[in-house]
Amino acid sequence: MIKVMLFIDGSWLYRNTPKLAKRYGRSDYRIDYGKLPAVLAEELAILMNLPATEIHLVRSNLFASIPVNYHADDEDLVEKQRDFYEILREEYHYETEIYDINFSGGPVKSQEDVVRVIRPEEKCVDVALASSLLSYAAIPGTYDIAMAVIGDRDYVPAFRHVRQLGKRVAIASIQGSCAKEYLDPADKERVRDFDVIFLGNYLNRFEFKYEPRQVRCESEFHIGNRTVWTTYRPRKGRPFFCDECMAKYTEQRKDTPRPVSTYRPAEVGAPAAQGQGPTQTGMIKRVLAEKFYGFIAGENNQDYYFNKNNLAEDLPWDRVQELGLKVDFEIYREPNDYQAGAAMNVRLAQKRVVAPFDVEDELAAMEAERKAREEAEAALSAQEAQDVLEARESAESGLDAD
Ligand SMILES: [Zn+2]
Repeated sequence: MIKVMLFIDGSWLYRNTPKLAKRYGRSDYRIDYGKLPAVLAEELAILMNLPATEIHLVRSNLFASIPVNYHADDEDLVEKQRDFYEILREEYHYETEIYDINFSGGPVKSQEDVVRVIRPEEKCVDVALASSLLSYAAIPGTYDIAMAVIGDRDYVPAFRHVRQLGKRVAIASIQGSCAKEYLDPADKERVRDFDVIFLGNYLNRFEFKYEPRQVRCESEFHIGNRTVWTTYRPRKGRPFFCDECMAKYTEQRKDTPRPVSTYRPAEVGAPAAQGQGPTQTGMIKRVLAEKFYGFIAGENNQDYYFNKNNLAEDLPWDRVQELGLKVDFEIYREPNDYQAGAAMNVRLAQKRVVAPFDVEDELAAMEAERKAREEAEAALSAQEAQDVLEARESAESGLDAD
């Protein structure tokens, strides 16, 4: 049994995926990070002339960066990136090390721009990968072979040291994005023990495909069999709503005003100086401390995203980690059916004259709303049944008249 540990330079792979896509002739090509490690292990087995079962993939490590202090317009872009790293951990059990890149309030550059202007902070990713490679190598029994998914030449010294510790190094890279040091057939730099594995040769094997699967719809509006076919991949532990139910939600939102909670305080605070629109009240619902963002449960059962940069001066980051903490904020972006809203100027809630807002209240209100919706639905179907009955009756009476 040979232990292989995977070390992926996530920033590099992310930047170079469009290059792979181009090679494949498919601009929409996406890597399935759930499949990638197994494909690499299989290819390594082939290089070693061993059955794939002899290769034991002990861990997948990914090193990458995330923008901080970026322009507000890039919130969606950065949130997608955060989600991506979260999926790697939650769904595929990657170990991730993510480093902040300070954009000093500026826009997040497009991928091509990043290739040209690599910010100095990106170096953190290289150094983190090299450090991890070496520190694992120094612990007996962790791995026999380090499989590195990289392209930059910066890793040359690290690979050399790992090999001096008696470990073997395998490199997976991308044609056109691989430093010549790794490609030299004579391996004058003494960096590797195998031929370079080119990702471009196996694209179809780790392509992210929207395969139809059966998932249970959790919507309270769902009619009929809850198990439906979908190409959507719901995240672990998150509810799934089928297309029909999503459409129903959208329809309902369009026709009826937003449900107003019964516990809304009568007095609404004046808009804060730097905020936009009326002050909202909510409570801290979820905080991802190590990633410096979280969600506020608003009064109308809507969630609002916020990050560390959206906190007012009176609200330190440590304090925000208290779940259920009451906060005031203004809306930066309205929520829609698919995405939480975004909050700005998040601050400690001012004392309200009427009805304190707390967890019990929120739960009671949610329950009351659910009941009301159920009753409305039941009333609607009763009405429909009545209509059908009346229609049949009039049809029958019409027949009688004949
Ligand atoms: Zn449904």
